[in-house]
Amino acid sequence: MHATFVMPSRVMPSRVMPSHLDELIAALRCLPGVGPKSAQRMAYHLLQRDRAGALRLAQSLELAASNIRHCGKCNNFSEQEVCALCASAKRDASLLCVVEMPADLLMMEQTQCYRGMYFVLMGRLSPLDGIGAKELHFDRLVRRVQEHPCEVILATNFTVEGDATAHYLASLLQAQGVKVSRIARGLPVGGELEQVDSGTLAQAMLERREVLA
Ligand SMILES: [Zn+2]
Repeated sequence: MHATFVMPSRVMPSRVMPSHLDELIAALRCLPGVGPKSAQRMAYHLLQRDRAGALRLAQSLELAASNIRHCGKCNNFSEQEVCALCASAKRDASLLCVVEMPADLLMMEQTQCYRGMYFVLMGRLSPLDGIGAKELHFDRLVRRVQEHPCEVILATNFTVEGDATAHYLASLLQAQGVKVSRIARGLPVGGELEQVDSGTLAQAMLERREVLA
């Protein structure tokens, strides 16, 4: 009889990396679009090339995560219960612009053509990702408009999901008797017709306005 070689049922790899490094790589993977390889690269970069940056990042994350909440009125990020914009007496409370993300609010503010209030959805309807009316706190928006009647301007993106969100919100708010408008699509400032895509040009034609002499 000759001896049979028995393979161990579970081969444990020898530990080649310190556990704190494993933990850092695992933690970095919470960022959107970061897979195991990128997380590993980021971790190596921070530890090998930028320890000061790593500590600063850790500190800012800690401070931001513990101190930033949502403004009770506009739902934007804020360190106070009500953000500076909502607390300002200079804003026109008869207008409420609904945007998807805080970056959209900043863009709108940069135009300096809007002096009303905002409501930031922090996303858009996306049933495939499990984001519905409940996740986007539409009830808070409706309550807000009921408590402070105003015209609502829907400024969600012109994507399939942004349009669906605007459509859903329009029905929801119109059922409450709220005046609702949607920002217009059109040609970019300085744009030439031959360089614009046909969808934008068609929309600009549909949303044409009378020329006032
Ligand atoms: Zn606010």
